[in-house]
Amino acid sequence: MLKILAIDQGTTSSRAIVFSDKGDVLYTAQKELPVFYPENGWVEQNPEDIWEGTLDCVHECLNEHNDIVAIGIANQRETTIIWDRGTGKPVYNAIVWQDRRTADFCADLKSPANESMIREKTGLLLDPYFSATKINWILKNVPDVCDMAECGRLAFGTVDSFLLWRLTGGKVHATDMTNASRTMLFNINTLSWDKNLLDFFDIPSSLLPDVKENTGNFGLANINGHEIRIMGMAGDQQAALIGQACFQRGMIKSTYGTGCFALMNVGNKPVISNHKLLTSIGYVIHGEPTYVLEGSIFVAGAVIQWLRDEMQFFETADESENLAQSVENTNGVYFVPAFTGLGAPYWNPDVRGTIFGLTRGTTKAHITRAALEAQAYQTCDLMSAMTADSGIFPSTLRVDGGLVKNEMMVRFLSDMLGIQVEISKSSETTALGAAYLAGIGAGVYRGLDDIANHWEKIRTYSPSLTQDEQGKLYNEWKKFIGRLV
Ligand code: ADP
Repeated sequence: MLKILAIDQGTTSSRAIVFSDKGDVLYTAQKELPVFYPENGWVEQNPEDIWEGTLDCVHECLNEHNDIVAIGIANQRETTIIWDRGTGKPVYNAIVWQDRRTADFCADLKSPANESMIREKTGLLLDPYFSATKINWILKNVPDVCDMAECGRLAFGTVDSFLLWRLTGGKVHATDMTNASRTMLFNINTLSWDKNLLDFFDIPSSLLPDVKENTGNFGLANINGHEIRIMGMAGDQQAALIGQACFQRGMIKSTYGTGCFALMNVGNKPVISNHKLLTSIGYVIHGEPTYVLEGSIFVAGAVIQWLRDEMQFFETADESENLAQSVENTNGVYFVPAFTGLGAPYWNPDVRGTIFGLTRGTTKAHITRAALEAQAYQTCDLMSAMTADSGIFPSTLRVDGGLVKNEMMVRFLSDMLGIQVEISKSSETTALGAAYLAGIGAGVYRGLDDIANHWEKIRTYSPSLTQDEQGKLYNEWKKFIGRLV
């Protein structure tokens, strides 16, 4: 049996998982990762915490399995780290993807011409979410850093790149194309860093890592005397797309964790959205790029946490299912869980959570059911936007994340979308995607077809509502959300 080590460096924890070549989990190590909120809207992590937590997990795995053939890395995307090439030390904390400190800078840069230039080149919206304005902030605000950047002493990287640098003992400064495509400095048409964008955001090119395909030789990790090849890398959502084997145009994966991220494979040409979806690189293997349209729901499982912790409707998230199923329907209640605004296709940061249709007869069960159903309605909004932009009617949706333990939610999702919803055998699709990429690089798998054959599902949900019934429910949702945006 061949074994692959996947690193899954996320926002709330760092993990390492040993997979067999069949995709089975042989060992998991996990470390929580602290997050700091130094000012309103600022979100930071200590790069040394990211590194040490990850390394501890890797050590733990290697202690149990010392015959690893390759390492794959998946990581939280956009989070920005700048370090000194000489000392290897970061010059500032990691600025996390959620950080909004550059909102005013983005607002100043916004004009129809600039926004469409960025859209065409990067597939992204001019927003603090992506790395470019975070890099600019560090260069402008951290003492001495600007001079160091000008004399070429500094290196920028997203978390993948920083981990790669550390794992290879400072020998390799590189990233992969999925991560690069989330920096807002990478041209997704030419698959290279874009000189105009670097000038636009005032960032010297000497900071940037080399950009590689998602499989191949990323360098040799030296861990306590073990030398292991790093052979695959991708940002976490793209890694999950690969872990879900969504390799055909029109396939979608959707991950329902705290928030939800849906990615549709749109094939080998970028599709630029008119509905505020993002266009990114899905993966690049053997010179062939595959693009995705991406949409996110800011609050998915988080609404269940809120019902549990603040409303105290139930004690564990699992209980939400029985409670929701204790009633036949929501009795006209619609819950828009826009606690932090609405993402695509609305992109309205000012909207807040709202419950519609309350009556004297409304119970906890109705509200909980409405919160779960909202996941499906929001996914419908994203999928309609994806279809409108790409002309593709998806045939299947593959789902993962904590919320998909809730069968009622998944069944309703299938009902509302009118398509089959599949749950994979592996609940670790992100790490599995990193392992698959490393496995292709190391020759464990012959390619994507081989992986598609390996991929297994444990359950399929098929729609049971008529188009009429579905339409009625969804139109009500559209009516209510129309009052908010
Ligand atoms: P993340 O990776 O974002 O931390 P997870 O994929 O671990 O999230 O999913 C955790 C989320 O799933 C939590 O927000 C939790 O409320 C929700 N969740 C877990 N189990 C259930 C369930 N049975 N029903 C509804 N929601 C659930």
